[in-house]
Amino acid sequence: MAPAQACLAQSATAAPPSMSGALPSMGDSSELPAAAERRMGDRIAASIYRDPDYVDDPVLGDYLQSIWQPLMKAARARGELQDELDERFAWALFLIRDRSINAFALPGGYLGVHLGLIGAVNTPDELAAVLAHELSHVTQRHISRLMTQQNRQAPWMIAAMILGALAASKSPDAATAAIVGGQAVAAQGQLNFSRDMEREADRIGFGVMQGAGFDSRGVAEMFEKLQQASRLNDNGAFPYLRSHPLNTQRIAEAQSRLQLAAAATPSPEGRADADRAQLLHAMMAARARVLAVPGVDALRAMLAEAQRRTDPPATAAARIRDAGVLYGGALAAAQLRDFAGARSLWRQLPPLTEGVVRARQAVELLGIEIDLLAGVVPPSAATADLAQATTRAEVLTVSRSLTAARRGREVSDRLQTWVTAHPGDAMAWQMLAVAYGQQNQTVRAIRADAESRVAQRDYPAALDRFKAAQAMMRSQPGSADHVEGSIIDTRARQVESLVKAQALEDKVNR
Ligand SMILES: [Zn+2]
Repeated sequence: MAPAQACLAQSATAAPPSMSGALPSMGDSSELPAAAERRMGDRIAASIYRDPDYVDDPVLGDYLQSIWQPLMKAARARGELQDELDERFAWALFLIRDRSINAFALPGGYLGVHLGLIGAVNTPDELAAVLAHELSHVTQRHISRLMTQQNRQAPWMIAAMILGALAASKSPDAATAAIVGGQAVAAQGQLNFSRDMEREADRIGFGVMQGAGFDSRGVAEMFEKLQQASRLNDNGAFPYLRSHPLNTQRIAEAQSRLQLAAAATPSPEGRADADRAQLLHAMMAARARVLAVPGVDALRAMLAEAQRRTDPPATAAARIRDAGVLYGGALAAAQLRDFAGARSLWRQLPPLTEGVVRARQAVELLGIEIDLLAGVVPPSAATADLAQATTRAEVLTVSRSLTAARRGREVSDRLQTWVTAHPGDAMAWQMLAVAYGQQNQTVRAIRADAESRVAQRDYPAALDRFKAAQAMMRSQPGSADHVEGSIIDTRARQVESLVKAQALEDKVNR
C-alpha cells in the first residue's frame, strides 16, 4: 500500500525529519487546506476508478467497512479526527487487485487496500492495525505536509507523481509497472513519510485501534510479519515495507505500548465473539486470494485442498480453517468454471457457519454468485425479497439475481432508494441503468449511467451522457416525463460547471 501514500518512497530517510522530533501542530501554515487536498484526491481517485485493477467487490467492501467504520468512530471519539476533515474528506476505500501486501493513504481521505493484504493477514485485528495506522497518517495531516514540502510543484504535478508511484508500486508482474518511467520513481523519495510521521501514525493508530475494540496483539502480529519479510529481503511482495520502513525504534515503541496494554484474559463470551469474527475473516481472506487472480495453478490448488477435507471439524480452530478452505475452494472452482465442483463445496458451508449471522449471509451470497457465474438464474430469485436486503453486498447481489430473472421493476424500485442514500455508489447506478433498460426506460437508463460516471469523478463522460439524454428527450418528446426532464437539465448544468472548474484549474496550474 503504500505508495501512494505518499508512501511512495523507497526509503524513509529521504524525508526530512522534523527538528524537535515533535511534529508541527495542526492547522499551521505548512498544511494544504483540506478543500485543496480533497480536490487533489478526487483527481487521483478518478484515475484509480479507471484503472483495470480497481475492484469494486461489495462483499469484501462490506467486510472492510466493518473494520473501518469502528476505527473512524474511535478516531472521532478520541478527538483525532477534526470535524472539518470528517466533513470535507471522501473517506473512501479502494480495493486494488494486486497480490502484494500493501495499503496506502491518498490525499483527501482516500485509502487503497491491496487484495494481497486481506489475503495475507490472519485476523481482523491485523487488518485493523494497518488501517488505523493509515487513517492516522490522514488525520494527522501528514499527507498535506508532504505536499506543501513540494510547494514549488504544481498540484497536478504532485498528483501525477503519486499516480506514477502507485503504478510503480504494483507487483512486479503487473503489466502497468512496465509503463512507468524512471522519473516518477525518482520523485518517490520526496513524497515519503518521515520517521517521525511513522512513529506518530503508530502511536495514534494504536490508540484508535484499541478504542475501536480490536485486539492490540494485531499490531504485534503485523510487525512480526513485516520483520520476517524484511529479513527475507523481500522481493517486492511487501511494498508496504518500502513505504513504511521498520526500524528498531518503531519496534521498541510498539512493544512497550503492548506491554502497557496488559493482555487481559478474554472472557468466554469474548472468545466466542473472537471466534465468530475469525470465521468470517477466514472466508473473506480466501475470497481476497481468489479475486487477486492468482493464476490457474493456484486456483486448482485451493480447489484440491477443499476437496481433501472429509471429517467434520472437531475444534473451533478447525471449523474456522475449514470454512475458509471451503469458501475459497468453492469460489476458485467457480472461477475455473467447474460449477458442479463449486456447488458441492458450497453445500458443505452452511453447517460450519451456523449461528454466525454475517458468515451465514456471506455463504448465501456466494451461492447466488456461483449461479450467476454459471449463467443460470439463482433458484432463490423466485422468492427473494429485495426490500429485506440491507447490506450493500446483499442489495447489489440480490439485485443482480433479480435482474437475471428479468424482474427489473423490483430492482429499480430498491436501487432508487439505495442511490438516494448512497449517491456515490457507482455500481448501484450502473445496475439501476440495466434495470431501467429492461423496462425500456431509456432516458432514465442514460441518466443512471451518467450518475455512475459522476460517482467515479469522470465529469466529462457524465456530461456526454446527460447531453445524450437531453437530445433523446428533444427528438422523442414522449420518452420522459417533465420531472425526469428537469432533473436531467439540472444535473447537466451542475456537471457542466464541474467540468469547467476542472478545466480552469488545469489552465491555472499549467
Ligand atoms: Zn506509515
